[in-house]
Amino acid sequence: MYNFFLPTTVFFGKNCVSLNTDVFRYLNKKFFIVTGKNSASLSGALDDVLNTLTNNYFIFDEVTENPTLSTVLKGAKSFIDNNCNFIIAIGGGSPIDAAKAISICAINNTENIFDSDSIKTTIPLIAIPTTSGTGSELTKYSVINEDLFSKSKKGISNNLIFPKYSFIDPKYTISLNKQVTIDTAIDTLSHLLEGVYSINRNILTYPFIIDGIKNIYKYLPFSLREPENYFYREKLSLASLYGGIVIAQSGTTLQHSIGYQLSYKFGISHGQTNAIFMKEILDLYYPNIKNELDYILSEASIKIEALIEFFKVYTAKYNGVNINSTELEQIIKSVMGAANTKLSPIIVSEKIIKNVYEKLFKIS
Ligand code: NAP
Ligand code: ZN
Repeated sequence: MYNFFLPTTVFFGKNCVSLNTDVFRYLNKKFFIVTGKNSASLSGALDDVLNTLTNNYFIFDEVTENPTLSTVLKGAKSFIDNNCNFIIAIGGGSPIDAAKAISICAINNTENIFDSDSIKTTIPLIAIPTTSGTGSELTKYSVINEDLFSKSKKGISNNLIFPKYSFIDPKYTISLNKQVTIDTAIDTLSHLLEGVYSINRNILTYPFIIDGIKNIYKYLPFSLREPENYFYREKLSLASLYGGIVIAQSGTTLQHSIGYQLSYKFGISHGQTNAIFMKEILDLYYPNIKNELDYILSEASIKIEALIEFFKVYTAKYNGVNINSTELEQIIKSVMGAANTKLSPIIVSEKIIKNVYEKLFKIS
């Protein structure tokens, strides 16, 4: 038996914001716009949104990559101080995730956003992605650097933080540089594969997985060669949207949790942390998911050897970091405690995580 739950209304395509001004105006709210320093303007999304708004709004543009709990708390205070009542998140996964966390803090009178029981309601949110990678515009997740207490990157999972509306216009991703285009596409590929890896895999998502993998495999190289080509960007945005749909149903696995601390401690982008472990995780999982993955790849007309070659090409740019043994112990503890680790198709042990790190990094 399979369930499928996705409460977000999606608008997809060129100029979808400008073509739907009535949605923003009908809401008739004071909007709190959450974004990073540059992406909203560079992508053109902020201009499109401001042109739709007739009411007052407030812009909170302090979200950085791998957003922190400190920023979220500051944003929640600003939301309250400015008497806002609806959130618009513009940016990559970082601003969208920060906005989701603000939507919790601003109304639940709690700093403990990671405790699902303390989340009774949330401020409604519109998500406008400017990257094509995380799929956060369609998920019930928010990933935040918990910089105040546990000092680790942690996920929130709650149906109340699904965006109410998502406006996905691939033209906003044309301003992405080459490295962010690669990192975010690899993140998407990871989400799609994890729809097969997860013990909560869901056959209702298989058409999205098959089409999404095909899109990344075929159109990432084209998009890198012609970054301004809308058609190629559209294919990557579609794959990202599909990846979001998939992980919203099936969750992620060790493939994601194993790299969270690399983002927290060393600032490595989320896409790259996924890329680093892609091949090792596939090797670990393959005996247990062979039938499902072979089926998906054959439907996508991609041979497993070709997929592994693709991993090699797009993960080759990574420059390693040095990790000391105390840091490795902390990383292992954190990975073992992550909820998504438990969705892996193998029994994950400390030894497995240690072996993978020792294989890929210089441990001093
Ligand atoms: P990001 O951290 O949001 O952005 C990466 C960089 O790209 C930033 O410097 C950003 O600039 C820039 N940028 C964004 N859009 C741009 C555009 N159109 N043109 C030029 N530059 C642009 O990257 P992301 O990979 O999308 O998000 C990663 C975060 O999402 C991680 O924290 C990860 O854990 C999380 N994540 C969440 C989910 C979920 O379901 N919630 C799933 C996967 C990953 P600015 O600084 O100006 O913004
Ligand atoms: Zn991801």
